[in-house]
Amino acid sequence: MPDMRKAAVIGSGFGGLALAIRLQSAGIQTTIFEKRDKPGGRAYVYEDQGFVFDAGPTVITDPNCIRELFELSGRRMEDYAELLPVTPFYRLAWEDGSTFDYLDDQHALDEQIRARNPADVDGYKRFLAYSHELYREGYEKLGAVPFLNIRSMIAVAPQLTKLQAWRSVYAVVARFIQDEHLRQVFSFHSLLVGGNPFSTSAIYALIHALERKGGVWFARGGTGALVQGLVRLFRDLGGELRFNAPVDEIVFDGNKARAVLSGGNRLDVDLVASNADVVHTYGKLMGNHARGQKRGAQLAAKRHSMSLFVIYFGLNKIHDQLAHHTVCFGPRYRPLINEIFSGPKLATDFSLYLHAPSVTDPSLAPSGSGSYYVLAPVPHLGSAEIDWNTEGPLYRDRILDYLEQRYMPGLRSQLVTVRHFTPFDFRDELNAHLGSAFSLEPILTQSAWFRPHNRDDVIQNLYFVGAGTHPGAGVPGVIGSAKATAQLMIQPAG
Ligand SMILES: Cc1cc2nc3c(=O)[nH]c(=O)nc-3n(C[C@H](O)[C@H](O)[C@H](O)COP(=O)(O)OP(=O)(O)OC[C@H]3O[C@@H](n4cnc5c(N)ncnc54)[C@H](O)[C@@H]3O)c2cc1C
Repeated sequence: MPDMRKAAVIGSGFGGLALAIRLQSAGIQTTIFEKRDKPGGRAYVYEDQGFVFDAGPTVITDPNCIRELFELSGRRMEDYAELLPVTPFYRLAWEDGSTFDYLDDQHALDEQIRARNPADVDGYKRFLAYSHELYREGYEKLGAVPFLNIRSMIAVAPQLTKLQAWRSVYAVVARFIQDEHLRQVFSFHSLLVGGNPFSTSAIYALIHALERKGGVWFARGGTGALVQGLVRLFRDLGGELRFNAPVDEIVFDGNKARAVLSGGNRLDVDLVASNADVVHTYGKLMGNHARGQKRGAQLAAKRHSMSLFVIYFGLNKIHDQLAHHTVCFGPRYRPLINEIFSGPKLATDFSLYLHAPSVTDPSLAPSGSGSYYVLAPVPHLGSAEIDWNTEGPLYRDRILDYLEQRYMPGLRSQLVTVRHFTPFDFRDELNAHLGSAFSLEPILTQSAWFRPHNRDDVIQNLYFVGAGTHPGAGVPGVIGSAKATAQLMIQPAG
């Protein structure tokens, strides 16, 4: 019997697209409503004067989770998108001028570790084994399993205890590795999914194994080209995607979602899934229902990840001395991270992530030119009162000066185009609560069953997908959330 049900997905981030593809592949007629004029959410694309800038994710890991979306309907990813390997995975750089190329070559890694601290070669081996175990338990077994009740959480408690999930990422790294710089190399990863390495559960140290196992990739044409590949797949399957179509309200009949309203248009559906921010969904889109008001207030009071300040800039030169991904550590690590997560103000120093995709794919800029972005993690709007309209241009200039001095000589005179994105933009463009870049902070007490569930507890045909639900932020995370949510939607509870 063909599935006659209809579904609405609110938002076209990686999670929303992956879910919509799974639903459409299973025969559920699916419509995506996207507020903005283009797909991708945090993976939006800016274009100017021949420069192409990926707005958000640039490090693509676990390509198999993406490939699976194509294979569901017997298609080949190669016909829609191409992934290029990135080497080194990242370059880590410090103000003393030293660097560490983190790459998938055990010998080269060992030599770099030995040069810093010979004892850490063995410590790293033990850390890698621990990380692989986390990966098997936390990612392979639980990454795409919906945690709907407390029993499911209790069932995994022994594994979490064995893996010391109550410790922080930094604390476990520090048990294996002595050198402070190397501790930074192996603990900064949780920042990529909005987690403070000093308070996020050690489970997130699995990202290290995820990268070593599946590699680090970049989509030819940029992450935006991968998003376009997913959109094309969704449309080839018969799905509908509406842009400039913000959902204003979810319509309920008692405890059943019946329709979504967008700009005066109503679409009646059997299933609703939100890929939008969870506080926005409960508090605003469901503000007409007691469940929405209550849950929205509860979630607003939780701990939210930091925000980001991002500068996109095009230069009339390719800085081929740069690696594709560079983490530029500032003078302080722990104190800076504490200020980013707790405020109360913008620190005077920063640590940066610099994206230089033109070294892998020159098609992202006019010939001989390079497109770049640099981001600084900054406090969200609830932990520091910063007027980003005035602070933004000043902060941008400080960061560009710093890059020019240390990493990209001549940057200012090579500048062709520049724009920036602040916590205000995360709030206003993406409806992100407090302008958080990664939704709820991934601490143990906000993970798995403690995170907003993939299906609402009360409204049984209302679902969530994306960074705010299990397992959490990051491209593999939200694609995993789509798998968990799709299972529930495709086989409805009896
Ligand atoms: C600058 C930056 C860099 C990052 N780098 C990486 C990286 O290298 N690798 C990695 O794996 N992860 C990275 N991340 C994290 C990753 O990008 C995100 O966790 C992930 O993309 C979020 O996907 P999502 O499915 O939750 O949806 P989102 O991308 O958050 O999309 C949600 C969508 O919902 C839409 N929406 C909101 N409200 C409504 C409404 N009312 N009606 C209709 N639509 C609505 C929004 O417009 C948006 O398109 C990065 C994040 C940022 C911000």
